[in-house]
Amino acid sequence: MTEFSMELNDDQKTLQEWVHGFAANVMRPAAHEWDEREETPWPIIEEAAKIGIYGLDFMANAFADKTGLSMMIALEELAWGDAGICMALMGTTLGVAAIMANGTPEQQMEWVPRCFGTPDDIKLAAFGVSEPDAGSDVSSLRTRAVYDEATDEWVLNGTKTWITNGGIADVHVIVASVAPELGSRGQASFIVPEGTKGIRMGQKFQKMGIRASHTAEVILEDCRVPGACLLGGKDKLDEKLARVREGKKASGQAAMATFEATRPAVGAQALGIARAAYEYSLEYAKERKQFGKAIIENQAIAFKLADMKMHIDAARLLVWRASWMAATRKPFLNGEGSMSKLYAGETAVKVTEEAIQILGGYGYVRDYPVERWHRDSKIYTIFEGTSEIQRLVISRAISGIRIQ
Ligand SMILES: Cc1cc2nc3c(=O)[nH]c(=O)nc-3n(C[C@H](O)[C@H](O)[C@H](O)COP(=O)(O)OP(=O)(O)OC[C@H]3O[C@@H](n4cnc5c(N)ncnc54)[C@H](O)[C@@H]3O)c2cc1C
Repeated sequence: MTEFSMELNDDQKTLQEWVHGFAANVMRPAAHEWDEREETPWPIIEEAAKIGIYGLDFMANAFADKTGLSMMIALEELAWGDAGICMALMGTTLGVAAIMANGTPEQQMEWVPRCFGTPDDIKLAAFGVSEPDAGSDVSSLRTRAVYDEATDEWVLNGTKTWITNGGIADVHVIVASVAPELGSRGQASFIVPEGTKGIRMGQKFQKMGIRASHTAEVILEDCRVPGACLLGGKDKLDEKLARVREGKKASGQAAMATFEATRPAVGAQALGIARAAYEYSLEYAKERKQFGKAIIENQAIAFKLADMKMHIDAARLLVWRASWMAATRKPFLNGEGSMSKLYAGETAVKVTEEAIQILGGYGYVRDYPVERWHRDSKIYTIFEGTSEIQRLVISRAISGIRIQ
């Protein structure tokens, strides 16, 4: 029997140190610039690809860790460096996760490497679910995919919104309705390869935070993709639709399990921002003097820092637990994946706000990074399921009642 330990192993510590070095030396110094420019930080992605932080091998190695912790450790460090650049590096994994969850082994082998490209020819991926009228309520997607038997192609029409890497990605994974009357059980995911006609970027959004990450609409107009681009394949889709039409249970449980398994990765990023703000404000509170003493000597400031540290550590334990559960295939009976994302996201918002308070006026101006961290943190209570939706998942899981 394995001895219980909360200590990281040597491989995990090495990974943490390596990624931290990149975050501290490459990401941190560039963070302000890319926040102001509000553009995809290509030079940083190139550097990350060159040293092996952006790419298939990095993902594969991190996920090979049977404890589930490696990816969480890496994400915390990257977001500690800068959350916007971290999202620019990690947006591709949203598309990759969808291919891994829904694709056949052949589709995974073909498309996952094409999502990342190579250091000399970098590629990006995107995952498009959200629409102007379907955010939290993904059962009401209007994007349609219709099968054209004559050509063995799927024809996609619709508008996706808020899509990370939308319109600039080389591989778009698009969720569309194939049987609208069946709601979320009548949906399927499609790969739209680079160079496909009928897919284009709509509006690019100007955001409050994570501004180095590109977010835009994706418009699909008679966009034709080969039959082989339906993730999972047509036979499996037809079987699923037949099952649903007979009133049998669809694989809703499986989809939920996939979401629960990916949520700790979002929590880990929120955690990184919170830790950055906590560390910075702790140092500041020791240096800054008012009334002849360091401001940390006042309980009002010291207790804030004590609470910040406590919430950050608690968030990390929830993130690590959920990631360990996903890696060891434990069932998320109490919405533990949602708990980790919810708690870490709300902790990041709270901790970064307190950090501004500790820095006073210096916290509020762009010469210091703290206001950026607060702006960056807010998205973690919104995307990948809002805080309210996470609470729905947890309360339904613990009660067995369909809480509204
Ligand atoms: C920067 C950014 C990047 C994103 N990246 C992607 C991406 O790559 N791919 C993608 O598909 N999507 C992406 N999204 C979309 C994101 O997932 C959605 O914004 C999110 O799911 C919320 O949907 P919505 O904005 O339509 O809000 P709504 O669903 O309209 O929610 C509005 C408010 O109502 C609340 N609410 C809704 N339903 C309920 C309910 N039943 N009970 C209680 N409260 C409820 C919500 O919690 C929220 O507070 C991104 C969004 C942003 C801002």
